[in-house]
Amino acid sequence: MTETKHHTSTHNKNAATLMAFQGITKSFTTGTETVTALNNVSGIITKGALNIITGPSGSGKSTLLDILVGLQRPTSGTVLVDGIDIYKLGTDDRAYYRARMLGMVYQANYWVKSLNVIENVSMPLLLAGYDRHQAAELAKLSLESVGMANLATQNPINLSGGQQQRISMARALVANPEVIVADEPTGNLDTRNGSLIMDLLVAAVKEQSKPSF
Ligand code: ADP
Ligand code: MG
Repeated sequence: MTETKHHTSTHNKNAATLMAFQGITKSFTTGTETVTALNNVSGIITKGALNIITGPSGSGKSTLLDILVGLQRPTSGTVLVDGIDIYKLGTDDRAYYRARMLGMVYQANYWVKSLNVIENVSMPLLLAGYDRHQAAELAKLSLESVGMANLATQNPINLSGGQQQRISMARALVANPEVIVADEPTGNLDTRNGSLIMDLLVAAVKEQSKPSF
């Protein structure tokens, strides 16, 4: 991926660097063939801003995001989060980094199928060590913030694509993450639902970039 562009647009002038990735290369070898998905890619992700990665299909966007969230080790290069090289951490510490810092939204939804909507939204909190009662309370608030509280006891797989994606947003936001990572979150949605999700993302970034005093 040499043609993928990394745009950074900031709402606040002095946006601090949250993540810095440097010289990222990723190759996949299957059988005798090697595909280089990323070739020496560098950039930064800033706090309280919408950071957008664009590029044609197959240019390595999803691979880069997987690397940034600690799910896929690069062939070479470093990912620094708050100055810490996440691939020098052990697997448990990297999992803790994800649970503590990140909320993720994808094009397709990944639900725990045996759990209802509010239980799925509670999952990131349970992973971060909240007790069930606290988790349920916060999950309800998060569902309210995306207008989906009335579907709390439904099974998510029975809902429309637009409803499911709003619930994914509630799950991504519930633990108040430093970063929301969204990989083509509007890719399966119609225009109206797509702009609704973008509005929710922009609102979340604005909320985050407010001074905390
Ligand atoms: P994008 O998200 O921009 O469409 P991807 O990151 O999904 O691009 O893919 C970039 C390239 O890496 C593609 O050529 C893809 O086929 C390849 N690729 C991605 N993941 C794997 C994998 N697990 N094994 C082999 N090749 C892969
Ligand atoms: Mg992709």
